[in-house]
Parts: sequence; structure tokens; C-alpha cells
Amino acid sequence: MGPNKAVHLMFLAGGVLLYFLMSWSADWIWGYFVKHPPELIISAGSAALAITVGVICYRNERLYTLAAQSASRRSAQTVMFHIVDGLARLVAPILPVTAEQLWKALPGKRTVSVHLEEFPSRDLLTSFVDDALVADWQKLLSLRDAVNAELETKRKDKVFGTSLGGSVQVIASGDDLALLRKYEDSLPMLFIVSAVAVSEGAAGSPTAIAVSKADGVKCQRCWRIVPSVAGGGDREGLCSRCVGALAEPVSP
Ligand SMILES: [Zn+2]
Repeated sequence: MGPNKAVHLMFLAGGVLLYFLMSWSADWIWGYFVKHPPELIISAGSAALAITVGVICYRNERLYTLAAQSASRRSAQTVMFHIVDGLARLVAPILPVTAEQLWKALPGKRTVSVHLEEFPSRDLLTSFVDDALVADWQKLLSLRDAVNAELETKRKDKVFGTSLGGSVQVIASGDDLALLRKYEDSLPMLFIVSAVAVSEGAAGSPTAIAVSKADGVKCQRCWRIVPSVAGGGDREGLCSRCVGALAEPVSP
């Protein structure tokens, strides 16, 4: 995945949080939590959960297996930073000690206390919004739900254990096909499978999904099923992507 797509994903994740935040201006949040603190905590928790499902699950593979300095991995870290930074500010009036601890644990230059900071401003939040990107990823996340249902069926039938043992075939046409082609390189990571093949179906036909067992051998580091792995040395059993990731220095 190129840096542009990685950055776009960052905006997607930011968008989820920002839509939540933008629905309540900072002043309104303050007034609201004074009257309804439990509801605010639940709402914030729900937003965090949505972000977790929509972003973190997608990003586990990036965070755990890609090179430390790769644009994809760093973009995931950037998204998480913005999410946690925003949530720390929002929960500070309700969970003062926890928010303060969280604030001081965040990387980079921090101010002395979260309690001297402001909620994220509307201007800042608006600057993150990308409607077209959000629309794209709403469709992709909907498709992922359908893929997950198929994966779960195969898992129950013992075709494979984890979803990484699966290979997905998607047949689409029209706008759906164009969207899938646009994000084709990202689909295996989005679906948490080892391979995704996109092909063109008859015009006007609905998008179809088929899941089968992935062919190949299992990489011992990323657990993807790949055509081949390294056969010897200290990289034995690793796929080419993992060998490349380990070759890069952790620090710049
Ligand atoms: Zn690997």
C-alpha cells in the first residue's frame, strides 16, 4: 500500500471519531456531561468500540507485522494517537486521574496537564473530514460484514481455523467493481485473509462473494498463507514481506 492510501486510511479512522465529536460541540459536551455523565461515558465507549472494530482490527496486521518505519504502520500509529489524544481530552472531566495518566503516557511533547487543554475544536475536526473517502469505506466495511459471514461459515465447517487461512473471491460490476479495484491491494488486510481475487461479473449483477481455503504455506511471523517462505537461515519460515520488514531498522 502506498503512502497516499495509508494516509487516506488515517482520515477514515479520524472521520469515525470526528463525526462523533462534531455532533457535539465542545460547549455542548460540557453541558451534557454535567447533566448526563453516564450517557456520555456510554456514548464515548460506543464510539471507541466502533473505532476499534473499524480501524484497529484492520490495522493489527499493519502494527504487528509491517516494518517499524513503513508509511502504513506509521499511519496506523498516527490514527491511534489522534483518537487517544481526543478521548483523553473528552473524558478528562469525568475520569480526571485516568485521563491525566493517559495524557502523560502519550508520545511526543505534551503539555503539563490534560486539564489545562481544550476539547478538539470544530475547525480541527472539520479539517479531517473527507466525505468521499468515508463513503468508499462505508461500502467496503459493509462488504467486509458479508465476507465475515462467509468466513465464519467456513470456520464452523472446519475448512480453516483462523480467517487468515481463507482466500476470498469477489465478483462485482459497475461502481462496486471500480471501488474494489481502487482498494484491491488493501482488501486482504481489510478482510484479514491471505488473498483476495476481484473479478468482473455480468453488468448489473449483485456483488458475489465466495470463500475457500487459501493455498500455500503459512508464514511463521504474519500467519498469512503465502506461495512460499524462506527456506533457511535466520529468516526460515518467513514470507518475503516479513523478511523485508525485518530488514528495515526499527529506528530511523
Ligand atoms: Zn509473513
